[in-house]
Amino acid sequence: MSVRVIYDEKENMAAIYCSTSDVAFGPAIYGDKKMDAERLAWKFIQWLPQDSRQYDQVDLMSRWAEFSALNWRECPECFGDQIIPYTEEACDGCLHRCDGCGDRGIESVKVVRGTKSERFCGECARKKIGNYPGFPQ
Ligand SMILES: [Zn+2]
Ligand SMILES: [Zn+2]
Repeated sequence: MSVRVIYDEKENMAAIYCSTSDVAFGPAIYGDKKMDAERLAWKFIQWLPQDSRQYDQVDLMSRWAEFSALNWRECPECFGDQIIPYTEEACDGCLHRCDGCGDRGIESVKVVRGTKSERFCGECARKKIGNYPGFPQ
């Protein structure tokens, strides 16, 4: 991976560049109070369906406009590895994992006990907390 991000912390501004060809490309990315420009740049790179170097400048700018218009947030359960639409509770990976047995790609339910929130498959939910309403059978 030779796509990198240049980040100016003082200006809270970032740009994408390719360390193989030594060329900067794409939009000037400005951060805000919610997220600094460097993190935002990496979110954009990860969000793109293809390698950011595959796009020409015009294409990349329109992708950036599309990305900026999305009403997204970081997944609260995996601490921002994934971004999700505001209306979703968590990303797909998080919605389908069990913190008890470590299974992935399964149906799970969110269990909140005190300040702790976990996800369990039906079996783990039964083991941990007995009969929890709504967990998958
Ligand atoms: Zn997640
Ligand atoms: Zn489980």
